[in-house]
Amino acid sequence: MQSKNYNLRSKENKLTTFDMKRFAITIMVLLAAAGLRAQNFEEFFTNRTLRTDLIFSGDATTQHIALRALHSWQGWAGRTHNLNQVPLKGDGELSLTDEATGTVIYRTTFSSLFQEWLGQEEAQTTQRAYEFTILVPQPLRPAILTVQLFNPSQEVASEMKIRVNPNDILIRNCDNHPTTPYTTIFSGSDKEKIDVAIVAEGYAADEMETFRADARATVEALFSHEPFGSMRERFNFVAVESAAAESGVSIPREGIWKESAIESHFDTFYSNRYLTTSAIFAMSDLLTAIPYEHIIVLANTDTYGGGGIYNSYTLTTAHHPLFAPVVVHEFGHSFAGLADEYFYDTPDIATNFLTPEVEAWQENITNLVDFDSKWADMLPEGTKIPTEVTDKAEKEYIVGVYEGANYLTKGAYRPAVVCRMRNNTATQFCPVCQRAIERMIRFYTE
Ligand SMILES: [Zn+2]
Repeated sequence: MQSKNYNLRSKENKLTTFDMKRFAITIMVLLAAAGLRAQNFEEFFTNRTLRTDLIFSGDATTQHIALRALHSWQGWAGRTHNLNQVPLKGDGELSLTDEATGTVIYRTTFSSLFQEWLGQEEAQTTQRAYEFTILVPQPLRPAILTVQLFNPSQEVASEMKIRVNPNDILIRNCDNHPTTPYTTIFSGSDKEKIDVAIVAEGYAADEMETFRADARATVEALFSHEPFGSMRERFNFVAVESAAAESGVSIPREGIWKESAIESHFDTFYSNRYLTTSAIFAMSDLLTAIPYEHIIVLANTDTYGGGGIYNSYTLTTAHHPLFAPVVVHEFGHSFAGLADEYFYDTPDIATNFLTPEVEAWQENITNLVDFDSKWADMLPEGTKIPTEVTDKAEKEYIVGVYEGANYLTKGAYRPAVVCRMRNNTATQFCPVCQRAIERMIRFYTE
């Protein structure tokens, strides 16, 4: 095993004239971007939400993106600044371009269960279709909506471009859509807040008291972790009381199928603990007209499991003893786009999102292709790569470059010995994950 000495202070720090010029240009570009940031939301958008329902289909060789439907309702809970910026590259991107001026007026990035499935063996021989929903602010004037899916090398693998005319009579107006009953669980005091909907899955109508208690426990679990705790005033949480016909969720390996609110089930990709839903449109219907940007689904079961997909949803078991660490871990995926820091000798979920040639986009893993873009600035002086695992490093969350992450024992590195993104026994996120989450919170609120 090779090890190299990583000494950050040895880097040249002097600015050359060229650098100064580049620095000045960068400042100018940043000011221009800030101009667009400050450029009024009102100049391009109306205070309405446009729900974009998409179908991702295909197999490992070819993928296709298609528009399923557009829905619209009063109110926009998302950001009204940083409109044309994205915090992470993600596995896909949606953008809106003002047709008249060619200005990119909104961008957002995401990951999808469809793309995870593309890494499964089944995708070599079978075509499948997956639902996906993205909420965008409704443009005032016709705009070009572009959706791209990236391959593991982070190149565009498929793209859809369509014209969206906000006056199209076939955009379904949901202003009179019955709203699912919901309760505010926590409401922060800051002006700009991140709206999170906690959704009931597999709770019968007479189990809503239990659901509200589980939703409160979810918020407490998040706030017991930094930086969520100290930045709590920047969040709103509501509990969406979507009642199911019967209690519990589906466990296919036991032959159990339930009529739950959003048809979630364990055994996704035949992995016992992987709990997901493919009924994205049904979930979006339940959330119509409720102010939300992020989704946490609580499954009324004590079977262990969960899943979290960046800018799509977190879904987790509510009544297992490890509920609290798991829901926070999954929210690390869905809210902050963090990767798993754990690994096995034999992976039980194939991963196709770490290629040796390209640096992973997740902030808490690296394959050392472009480590400077990751947590190089947080390494103690003289840190060796790979960093040796010690008791002290584990106890004190000492930042290093520890081999083993993202389901791989070799070639992938994590920032700490333990972390909420690695194991349920860790008590906190590691410092690198904490910084990534804080950046994300600031992106949405500043
Ligand atoms: Zn971490």
